[in-house]
Amino acid sequence: MDLNLRDKVAVITGGSVGIGLAIAEGLAAEGTNLVLVARNKERAEDAAAAVADKFGVITTAIAADVATAEGCDVVVSGTQKAFGGCDILINNAGTGSNETIAEADDARWQYYWDLHVMAAVRLARGLLPTMKTRGGGVILHNASICAVQPLWYEPIYNTTKAALMMFSKTLANEVVGDNIRVNTVNPGLVLTPDWIKTAKQIAGEVGWEAHLQGVADEAGGMKRFATPEEVANFFVFMCSNKASYSTGSTYFVDGGWLKTV
Ligand code: NDP
Repeated sequence: MDLNLRDKVAVITGGSVGIGLAIAEGLAAEGTNLVLVARNKERAEDAAAAVADKFGVITTAIAADVATAEGCDVVVSGTQKAFGGCDILINNAGTGSNETIAEADDARWQYYWDLHVMAAVRLARGLLPTMKTRGGGVILHNASICAVQPLWYEPIYNTTKAALMMFSKTLANEVVGDNIRVNTVNPGLVLTPDWIKTAKQIAGEVGWEAHLQGVADEAGGMKRFATPEEVANFFVFMCSNKASYSTGSTYFVDGGWLKTV
């Protein structure tokens, strides 16, 4: 199936590892050129070089903190310099939290707001003009099942990811006439290196797999983690013109974990 993604340009925040890197590989396999964004320069550059080498596409790495206005500016100017703009933006950079509402201070709320919401706002503002000039595009937000089904230990994550979903819907309405489709994807449990690292810290070298199985069992549904590729496949489809009638929506890729319709 030709997804018509060859020679498009995609900006992927958090593209150096985990789900973002899997999306990068999925798009590169379709011939899409890439801008991979992350704070750790070396890891982003290594990922960009490896993807370019494996798939024969043009990639560039941008070291930037998208939780800041300056970092988002660097992404916009770097994309402009490398490719003259982009056709696809994947707002994927994000991270879990761990706190109680009673104890978390304003600075903590502000950090996650900047990372999960303002990054998407600022990058939309900066990248939409060239997307429009190029005749349209796709913006995808990687939120989480936690945006609608909160986990007790991460109230700030739940709240800011829910806000990201609403931003996505609102942006979709604003740019629907510009041939730009905007959607949210809500993954469930996805086995990224960070999950494995944390599980090893909690349960050790012998017990980490059982620990993760316990997490998956508790979630229910398929009772397993997704591979990053399983989630990335959905992102790639949503970037393609096979998803041409889909905008302003939220899609779950959660193995049946969601308990509501
Ligand atoms: P990882 O921790 O594996 O990777 C996160 C990526 O984001 C890295 O490339 C990291 O690079 C980058 N990043 C983090 N903070 C910033 C920042 N401030 N500025 C720029 N880049 C940043 O994450 P996952 O792949 O697990 O998750 C990706 C997204 O998917 C997140 O938004 C997460 O909330 C969401 N998600 C994940 C699930 C899971 O089970 N894994 C489930 C549901 C949703 P660097 O550290 O170098 O900046």
